[in-house]
Amino acid sequence: MAAACSHRHSTMSSTQQHKRPLLLGPWRRAFQWLTVVTIILIPWIQPNGVSIIRVDIPSLSLLFFGQVLRIPELYLLLLFILVSGAAFLLITLVFGRLWCGWACPQTTLTDIAEWLTRRLKLKIVSNRLQGALIQKIIAQTFFALLALLVSANIIWYFIEPQRFLSALVSGNLHIGVLVTFCLIALVIYLDLALVRRLLCREFCPYGRIQTSFVDAATLTLQLPDSEKKRCIKCNSCVRTCPMDIDIRNGYQIECINCGRCLDACRAVMAKRNEPGLIYYTFGVDNRGPGALLNPRVAMVGLLLAILISALSYAVISRAEASLNVSIVPVTAGRVLDGQQATLFNVWVNNRTTSSQLYQLNVVSAAGETLEIRGQTQEISINPGENRQFRIMVLTPVHQQSTVVEFQLIDSSQRQVAGARARITPAADNN
Ligand code: SF4
Ligand code: SF4
Repeated sequence: MAAACSHRHSTMSSTQQHKRPLLLGPWRRAFQWLTVVTIILIPWIQPNGVSIIRVDIPSLSLLFFGQVLRIPELYLLLLFILVSGAAFLLITLVFGRLWCGWACPQTTLTDIAEWLTRRLKLKIVSNRLQGALIQKIIAQTFFALLALLVSANIIWYFIEPQRFLSALVSGNLHIGVLVTFCLIALVIYLDLALVRRLLCREFCPYGRIQTSFVDAATLTLQLPDSEKKRCIKCNSCVRTCPMDIDIRNGYQIECINCGRCLDACRAVMAKRNEPGLIYYTFGVDNRGPGALLNPRVAMVGLLLAILISALSYAVISRAEASLNVSIVPVTAGRVLDGQQATLFNVWVNNRTTSSQLYQLNVVSAAGETLEIRGQTQEISINPGENRQFRIMVLTPVHQQSTVVEFQLIDSSQRQVAGARARITPAADNN
């Protein structure tokens, strides 16, 4: 530790460096803006007219970078949840609550709200705005507009922004969407106006869970004991802390690793031509990045790599379409024109991002093409759509059950999906 400190002193030897300390604030704010702009822009990125990420409610599908994942494909959803869980665990083990301080939308919204109150010369006392009435009205109006923007941005992950905005302007927005939009906006407005950091401090379950994952090697901010004698007790670190923490008292679970106290201390100490006293360290005993080479991090990292590989393989190798069939029970085993007539429910799911024209063939176990009544040619299915329709399959009257095979053929004559069904003899059902 002493060696680490002397190194820091040597690297901060010039007066010029002390006058201009390296502050993390601009980097944190740039990262927050990057996150905000990315979140707002994602719904507008639509190569070939298809959103890169959007939940399409009518087709119960998730559009994800050119893939159409039907929500009923539970194994993919399960894998996705496992990948998210392992990534969350690994990030927390390595970086602690860095997400909360640098990337969480709640923190960013609160930062914007607090920035505005400072510009308007308002004070926040017991989480309430205090100051001139006109400034308070301006602040509340800004909070309301910001809440509407954020709510619209959330809706855009379900309905394309262009469609949502034109329906909103023309008054044709579905009542359910309108109510959802208003409710989300109301919740966000109340958050900005009344709750802000209270959510992070008292209610956020994510922060609580993260805290339990922090271990001896996790990135934390601290004022090392060896530096405490240089502290001039200016309280800058405490005044700047959004979570009302006194970092001089050691690590506290409410700390969101934002680094404001580090910046404040560096700025104060730079005036004395000394380096700041507060540091990001891996573990409270400052073991350096090498501390991350431990079995816990390695195991979670390996688990995450395996899960990402499995999810990638499952998504890439999944068929372009799915075909499911089931016999309509009340009609099973009827005889029509000397042949056994069996009515089937058929579901065809187009998993691509473009409309497809399919053809449906049914062949017997011996490979003979069977006669079908119903639409089997030029079946047009929209991207992500799971269409259900009925067809009647005619087979010779057998004394024993027989298996028939359904083949879904695309416009380039490739079989893209198949299904089998067992037809029982007509006598069994009459
Ligand atoms: S103690 Fe420092 S890093 Fe932690 S929340 Fe307060 S200002 Fe941010
Ligand atoms: S900002 Fe630095 S010098 Fe001032 S009280 Fe905090 S730790 Fe001490």
